[in-house]
Amino acid sequence: MTTVTLPLPLCGWLQQESRLGAPNEVCGLMLGLHDGGVVRVQRLLAAENIAEEPEAGYLIDPEFYLHAERQAAGEGRSVVGVYHSHPTGRPIPSETDLKLAWPDWSYVIVGADGSLRSWRLAGKQFVEEAISLE
Ligand SMILES: [Zn+2]
Repeated sequence: MTTVTLPLPLCGWLQQESRLGAPNEVCGLMLGLHDGGVVRVQRLLAAENIAEEPEAGYLIDPEFYLHAERQAAGEGRSVVGVYHSHPTGRPIPSETDLKLAWPDWSYVIVGADGSLRSWRLAGKQFVEEAISLE
């Protein structure tokens, strides 16, 4: 199982963003490093949720991915995944989340109660990753 390490301040920021953004889902990219089987998240870049129904899903502008890739490369980091919130639900991926997912990225979801879970594609489905707060 892959482990995602998340600094506590980033965890707190994610929970706050999620609360402030409700009822819409908030979303953004996670920058960091791959360290063996561990994904180290070091920075979060908030993105605008451009979904037609932002309370029911999220969509990130493709331009924003490019911007984030450049930003990460300039800092010696990589884009290691995506975060988004489920302001009225559990932090479990939806069918839409599954359709949008790319391999090799971590997908952190913040639930309505502020709980965080992380997921990664394995073939055509998500498997859960461990989150380690540090
Ligand atoms: Zn979702």
